[in-house]
Amino acid sequence: MKIDKLRLVGFKSFVEPTDFEIRPGLTGIVGPNGCGKSNLLESLRWVMGATSAKALRSTGMEDMIFSGTSQRPARQWAEVTMTVRNDRKDLPVEFNEHDFLEISRRIVKKEEGSQSLYKVNGKEARARDIQLLFADASTGANSPALVRQGQISELINAKPANRRKLLEEAAGITGLYTRRHEAELRLRAAETNLERLDDVTGELE
Ligand code: ATP
Repeated sequence: MKIDKLRLVGFKSFVEPTDFEIRPGLTGIVGPNGCGKSNLLESLRWVMGATSAKALRSTGMEDMIFSGTSQRPARQWAEVTMTVRNDRKDLPVEFNEHDFLEISRRIVKKEEGSQSLYKVNGKEARARDIQLLFADASTGANSPALVRQGQISELINAKPANRRKLLEEAAGITGLYTRRHEAELRLRAAETNLERLDDVTGELE
C-alpha cells in the first residue's frame, strides 16, 4: 500500500482545501513552528479511523474542525481524503479489484456532538471497516510507522503489555483480535438465546 494523495478540507489549521501529492521516493515536509506539520500526520491517523482524541492532541473530535481565527469564522465540518495505491493488493479482499482506493472521513458538528461519516471509493463504510482494512495491512491509526512527538520516550518507558500491542499492530494481527472479540460477543448472545429457548420449551412441556 502506498499513499498517493491526501486532501484536507477544514481540518484543524487547514481551512482551505489543501492537496498533497506524494511522489515516489522520500518526501519531507518542512516549515516553521506551528505551520501544521503535526496536523498533517494527525490527518493520516484520523482518516484511518483514529478514535482517541488524546492521540490527536485534542480533547474531543470536534477539535479536528477548523475553529476559526480573528479573521475567519469557524467551520462546521472537516474532511480528509486519502488516495492509496493498492496495485500490490496489500489491502484485503473485497477492495482488491481496485488499484486505487479513496478513503474519506468527514466530521460534522451537531448540536448533540459530532458525527463521522466514512467512505471507500464513494461508498459509505463503517469506522470498523476502515480500521480493519488498515489493521489487516499492518498499518492504520495506531501504526508504529506514524511516530508522534514524545512517542519514543513513551515507548521506552512503556509496560511490556503496551509494547506487545505495538508489535501486534506491526504484525497485522490486531484485526484478528477485534474479530475474535466480536465472535465471542455473538457466541454469548447465541448462548443466552439458547438458554431462553430451554426455558420456553420447559414451560410448554
Ligand atoms: P512544531 O514544529 O512546533 O511541532 P507544527 O508545524 O507541527 O509545529 P502543528 O502542531 O501541526 O504545527 O500546528 C499547530 C497549529 O495548528 C497551531 O497554530 C494551532 O492553533 C493550529 N490548530 C490546531 N487545531 C486547530 C483547529 N481546530 N482550528 C484551527 N487551528 C488549529
